[in-house]
Amino acid sequence: MSFQALGLSPALLNAISDQGYTTPTPVQKQAIPHILAGKDVLAGAQTGTGKTAGFTLPLLHRLMENHDPHQKPRRIRALVLVPTRELAAQVLESIKTYGAHLPLIAEMIVGGASINMQIRQLRHGCDIIVATTGRLCDHMNERNINLSSVEMLVLDEADRMLDMGFLPDIRRVIGNLPKQRQNLLFSATYSAPIKALANQILQNPILVEVAKPNVTSDNISELVYGIARENKRALLSYLIGSNNWQQVLVFVRTKHGADRLEKQLVTDGIRSAALHGDKTQGARTKALDLFKNGKVSVLVATDIAARGLDIDDLPHVVNYDLPQVPEDYIHRIGRTGRAGALGAAISLVSPEESSQLAEIEKLLKRKLPRIADTGYEPVSLNVIDAPKKKAPNKETGKKDFRHTKKPTEKKGYVARNQAPGAKPKTQGSRSRSR
Ligand code: AMP
Repeated sequence: MSFQALGLSPALLNAISDQGYTTPTPVQKQAIPHILAGKDVLAGAQTGTGKTAGFTLPLLHRLMENHDPHQKPRRIRALVLVPTRELAAQVLESIKTYGAHLPLIAEMIVGGASINMQIRQLRHGCDIIVATTGRLCDHMNERNINLSSVEMLVLDEADRMLDMGFLPDIRRVIGNLPKQRQNLLFSATYSAPIKALANQILQNPILVEVAKPNVTSDNISELVYGIARENKRALLSYLIGSNNWQQVLVFVRTKHGADRLEKQLVTDGIRSAALHGDKTQGARTKALDLFKNGKVSVLVATDIAARGLDIDDLPHVVNYDLPQVPEDYIHRIGRTGRAGALGAAISLVSPEESSQLAEIEKLLKRKLPRIADTGYEPVSLNVIDAPKKKAPNKETGKKDFRHTKKPTEKKGYVARNQAPGAKPKTQGSRSRSR
C-alpha cells in the first residue's frame, strides 16, 4: 500500500516524499484511514514504529479540511499531550516537517521554557499545541489559553504519562475541552490504568495494534552481562572502547548516578553527556544535540529524560541499571532498532538486580541470553523464588537480598579467553539474529 492510497492530501504527500518515505509503516497503514474518517483510535504502538507520523499526517489533513485562512487570531484546534519536553520537541518537529507545505501554525507549551514567550505565542494564535500537562495547566490557571475550539486530542505515550503521575493533570485538561471532539490515544504498553483511561476518553474507538503488548522489536539483539555492581563502570568503558561503539545510550536509575557515570566515562577518555530531569532545558537540549550530532559517543540518561527520544539509527542501548518498572525495559531498548534498523541492547545486571531481571523476563515471557564469560568472576543472577516484591527488613527497612549470591572478588575487566573486540560467548537461549 502506498501513501497515496491512504487518501492524504497532495501537500502532505509532497512532505512525505521530501522525507524519502515510500511505504507507510504498519501503524500508519492501520491508523491513518480511521483517523481521516474522524474515528477515535486506540493504538498500541511501540516507539520507533512511525506512530508520530501515524497521527500527525491525518491530523494535519483533517485540520486543513476546515481551515479558515481569515480566522484571526487562530483558534487552537488540535492538542497533543506528551509526557516529556523532548518528546514535545520531536512531535513539534514532525508537525513542522509534515506540515511544511501547509499554512498551519503549531506551538509547544512545555516547562523549563519562558512562560512569557509562550503567553505571546498563545495571544498571537495557533492551530496546534503540543504540550506537557504541567505547563499547560499553569497556563489554564492563569487563563492564558483557550481550549474551547479543540477538535482533536492526541495522548501520545499515554502509558508514560500515567507512570509519571500526570493523570490528574490529564483529567483537568480534558475537563476544559469541548465534549465533541476526536480522540487518539497512543501507548506502547497496555495496563489496567491505560484501559481505564481509554474507556473514559474514547468513544467507540477503533483498535489498532501493530506490536503485541509487552513485546520487544525483533530487530534488537539482547544480551545480559551478570556483573558485580562495582565492576559495571569498567566493563562499560571496556565494551565501548574495545568495540569502538560510536553512539550509545546508557540508562541509569538516578539523576545523581547519571552525572557520576558521565564524569567517570569522561575520565576513561569516552566523550559523554548526561540527560536528566534536574538539568535546565537548555542543558538537556545541548546534551541531546551533542549526542545526535556525534560530538559525544555516550548519552547517560534517566528514564524520564529519555522518554520518546527518536535518534536516527541508534545502534546501542545499555541498561547500566535495570529499570524499576519492568515495562521500562521494553521502552528503553525501543530506542534502538527503530524504523527497521538493527540494534543491540545490553544489560549490566548485578546480583542485587536479579529479581528485577526475573520480572522483566516474566513480562517478556522469555529468558534473555546471558554472556557466559564477562571477564570477571561469575556472579549468580538466579532468584530462588518466583519474583515477588520483597518486604522490607523490619529492622533495617532495606530490601532483603539473601536469595542472591554475593558478588565475588573483583578482577581485571579484560574479558578472559577473549580477544578485545571479539564477540562474547553467549549461553542459554534465543540470541536473536541481527
Ligand atoms: P516514531 O515511532 O514516530 O518515533 O518514528 C520512528 C522513526 O521512523 C522516525 O525517525 C521517523 O522519521 C521514521 N518514519 C516514520 N514513518 C516512516 C515511513 N513510512 N518510512 C520510513 N521511516 C519512517
